[in-house]
Amino acid sequence: MKLVSTRDKSKQVSPAEAIVKGLSEDGGLFAPTSFPIFALSDIMHTPSYSELASYIASAFLPDFSRKELSTLTHEAYNNFPENAAPIVGINKFTHILELYHGPTLAFKDFALQLLPHLLTAALKKTGVDKIAVILTATSGDTGSAALEGFGSTDGVKICVFYPESGISNVQKLQMTSQSSKNAKVIGLKGNFDDAQSGVKQIFADTELAALMNEKNHIFSSANSINWGRIVPQIAYYFWAYSSLVRSGKVALGDKVNIAVPTGNFGNILAAYYAKKSGLPVHKLICASNSNNVLSDFIATGVYDKNRDFHITVSPSMDILISSNLERFLFELHGHDDGKIRDLMQQLKSSGRYELDAEALALMQESFYAGYVSDGDTINSISDTWKKYSYLSDTHTAVAIKVHEDYVQKTKDSTPTIIASTASPFKFADSVILALGGQLEGDDFERLEHLAQLSGVSVPESLSALAQKEELHKTVCSPDEMRGQILDWLL
Ligand SMILES: *Cc1c(COP(=O)(O)O)cnc(C)c1O
Repeated sequence: MKLVSTRDKSKQVSPAEAIVKGLSEDGGLFAPTSFPIFALSDIMHTPSYSELASYIASAFLPDFSRKELSTLTHEAYNNFPENAAPIVGINKFTHILELYHGPTLAFKDFALQLLPHLLTAALKKTGVDKIAVILTATSGDTGSAALEGFGSTDGVKICVFYPESGISNVQKLQMTSQSSKNAKVIGLKGNFDDAQSGVKQIFADTELAALMNEKNHIFSSANSINWGRIVPQIAYYFWAYSSLVRSGKVALGDKVNIAVPTGNFGNILAAYYAKKSGLPVHKLICASNSNNVLSDFIATGVYDKNRDFHITVSPSMDILISSNLERFLFELHGHDDGKIRDLMQQLKSSGRYELDAEALALMQESFYAGYVSDGDTINSISDTWKKYSYLSDTHTAVAIKVHEDYVQKTKDSTPTIIASTASPFKFADSVILALGGQLEGDDFERLEHLAQLSGVSVPESLSALAQKEELHKTVCSPDEMRGQILDWLL
């Protein structure tokens, strides 16, 4: 298996090169030329999460040996509980796949705990003898997960910019208490967009790149289009399936649905890739909040980002351009790179493109989509709690509701895996309100309040934060970002 740019198939790279590069020079994403097919009986025989992850990953990263990957996944998933991705049935055919038991309590840990190891190995394989410097702009979840993963890895450094006002105290402390010498955390006087465009400018700064190169450093990105972030996510869908078979909820070979709360389309793309690789999937259910550009697209074939942007109670899905969708479009159009260039050009110039009838029908064979307002998200948390005594965060609640609507509409009772992407304690305020509680006291008092309301204890990594010190106090304006990086590195 090789990888090619979705915008130019003649550009072939190895998986290690794709991980180092992140994005192709033509703006395309790296996508596989073909898919491995896993035998389900083999999936059933892998004893631990990290072993299964290395087995799946080795097929998508053929230039890494199985033994090498086994060491890397073991190191990465050591930071999780023994069952890294437990699955909890809430009714006869609905099963919640809890992807939030990693160090920062969101599913991004699955990829961001492994990616630093993949990147350092990939640098060696491609003969780049330099220190990779990860630059990230974050609105919350990504920054802390990236810091946890990269901060503790030798041979890489990481710098995170976050909007100084606009994230919760808990989210801020998760980042600013980072003690690793490899990490720099900077508050930006501006919003997330300012942080993101500042980082983009630094990536495009050739003079700075040359300076860095002299000092043996190279900029790299950990964002969700990196091939090294997609691969680790494919594994947990196989893990979930094998868990359901082991517990007798599904017979080996029977189909399941997978519902995913979706923003940048990375997590649900991994589920689609799992399907292409032999996982028996009936429907992929794409769940959005009121930034419903994807659910409109899947219903009509028209992708149109020209609409109001909403700040919602499920902020990690507040997105109008879902970058990873490009990889799906590449599959949908039979690897027609010219077609992808054309669609992406339309998206750039008019913010809109439309599928032809054939592609639309093909997409709808695999995908169903729906969206949920903030009010209904809170109701979904509340209903799920009342009906099943199951506590869900706002993102997961969106997927639970869209799945419920799907079942009502279609009467489909195929067993369904719902990806739960964050701990309810990460979005405690909304969950407290959904359970009928009051918002009082500081962030840490609220966590305790939610624990009292629900009988679920506060995750240790969050309660431990109360004792932690703010170590990173640098704040800068957007035009000082470049100088900050230079001061830190050179
Ligand atoms: C990032 C994130 C999502 C969206 O995932 P995509 O892969 O971007 O679709 C959903 N929920 C949570 C909690 C997240 O952090």
